[in-house]
Amino acid sequence: MSERGHAIRPARFAQPEHTVIVGTGVAGATAALTLRNEGYRGRITLVGADPEAPYRRPPLSKEVLRGTVKSERIRLKPDAFWSENAIELRTGTSVTALDTDAATAALADGTVLGYRNLVLATGGSPRRLREAAGVPGVHHLRSLRSATALAAALAGRDPVTVIGAGLVGLEIAASARALGCDVSVLEAADRPMSRVLPAWLADPLNTLHWDRGVEIHTGVTVVRIEHHTRRGGYTVSASDGRTWTAATVVAAVGTVPETSLAEAAGLLVSDGIVVDEYGRTSASGVFAAGDAANLPDTLHGGRHRGEHWNEAMEQGAAVAKTIAGTLTPYPRLPWSWSDQHGVTIQVCGRPDLGTEHEVRGDPEARDASVVFRRLGRVVGVVAMNRPAEFRALRQLALAATQPSSTS
Ligand SMILES: Cc1cc2nc3c(=O)[nH]c(=O)nc-3n(C[C@H](O)[C@H](O)[C@H](O)COP(=O)(O)OP(=O)(O)OC[C@H]3O[C@@H](n4cnc5c(N)ncnc54)[C@H](O)[C@@H]3O)c2cc1C
Repeated sequence: MSERGHAIRPARFAQPEHTVIVGTGVAGATAALTLRNEGYRGRITLVGADPEAPYRRPPLSKEVLRGTVKSERIRLKPDAFWSENAIELRTGTSVTALDTDAATAALADGTVLGYRNLVLATGGSPRRLREAAGVPGVHHLRSLRSATALAAALAGRDPVTVIGAGLVGLEIAASARALGCDVSVLEAADRPMSRVLPAWLADPLNTLHWDRGVEIHTGVTVVRIEHHTRRGGYTVSASDGRTWTAATVVAAVGTVPETSLAEAAGLLVSDGIVVDEYGRTSASGVFAAGDAANLPDTLHGGRHRGEHWNEAMEQGAAVAKTIAGTLTPYPRLPWSWSDQHGVTIQVCGRPDLGTEHEVRGDPEARDASVVFRRLGRVVGVVAMNRPAEFRALRQLALAATQPSSTS
């Protein structure tokens, strides 16, 4: 079977030319609009459980929490865009079941949609802490609705405990501090952002948080979260006996890919919906993109599941091009950013694979870029407050992904 034959549902199963996209996050929304940009003339239905029209998630932990942007301003497109481009947007309803033999998707509102191609862009949901089970009011941040609820809780400027010192946890901490809350961050690892940055680059950011009044406590294993019904508030206890009291507790301990629909349909799932480099799942005509997809790392070997905005967007665009007729692989070089206390941190590739590095500027002053190399080849770039330099170095890293390159 040709590459194209595998990507596009074979004729004997063919439904009328109709692409159903599950999930109105950036991967799904970008897939829909790219299909139209590519001249796709079939029907497009974009279905999302979220009641809102597609919006940008990154501002949720930043401007939305700080109250510096209105929710209408984070929409991906003006409301009229979808109908003007003949994209049927169905928000506030889930796809509850897929039948990959009949090529149909059943919606919670009772509709059954036949499809020629289907894109699972179901994203992820916040990982739940076992210690938070049954404790009322512990916040998790993923949707606009959850951001609005957290913003309301922070408005009182009462103390906050954030569990998790990854990028999202630290952005929440910085925003809460900017609002005037006392903030404690509890992290199980021995340093913040341990999945993203080497210790020597995370240290200056750790210092920045402390300087701005955010207390980051590392090596903390949370064993209990207690809600005080009468007086309100919470006590968070660690295994070593330390405790923190706060009016608000936020758990920001990572993302779990949303794979239940794929699993129930019998698709291959392993830390995400398993796809090939073109986003194709184990079922013919069914693709997956964004945080939900687990794809081969064609640069470094093994497999990879991203949890970053640009990666999800670029995968949504690639899958749409493939459906529209141009077989397009997923980009091989993920990149992301984070904003904390006015410092923009940008990361691309795999700095963790670097065996040597070259620093420009001063990491201690949070004004630097670092190129990581392995056997002479660029494998990653980190920049702090150097967006123009990051753009140039990312091109260098992109060039190094070409097979013949030694840069
Ligand atoms: C608070 C926050 C801040 C972030 N900041 C940054 C940042 O600064 N930089 C960065 O690079 N990345 C950031 N990210 C990560 C980035 O936003 C995500 O990687 C990206 O949004 C993933 O897009 P997605 O379309 O794959 O999934 P999602 O955005 O999760 O969208 C998936 C959608 O699918 C829907 N869905 C799931 N199942 C079904 C179903 N069965 N039927 C219908 N709909 C369904 C969900 O409701 C959801 O709306 C941030 C994430 C969060 C939560």
